[in-house]
Amino acid sequence: MSFENSEANNDGRFPIVPILMEYGGEWAEEGMGWRKYKCPFHGDRQASASINTEQGVFNCSAAKGCPTGNAVQIIMKEEGISLGSAIERAKAISGSDGSPL
Ligand SMILES: [Zn+2]
Repeated sequence: MSFENSEANNDGRFPIVPILMEYGGEWAEEGMGWRKYKCPFHGDRQASASINTEQGVFNCSAAKGCPTGNAVQIIMKEEGISLGSAIERAKAISGSDGSPL
């Protein structure tokens, strides 16, 4: 099973930064692979999280139950809504139609 075609990745096509900013995260430039990011979900003071804008994913290593994954997965966990609703939210927040990044 290739990563691109896996079911889990079908909802991973939204830019991650606008989604994180919606929850209080900081703006971050596109690109540059994995890099440190201040987690907006647990009052992070020292950038214990990381983002990869090419892959559109976020991961917090502080182990405080913060949401991780792509835009839609984060929205689903934060708002407790269905996949379909989370995709609609991701479209509204990011202004993207969910096409491949
Ligand atoms: Zn966190």
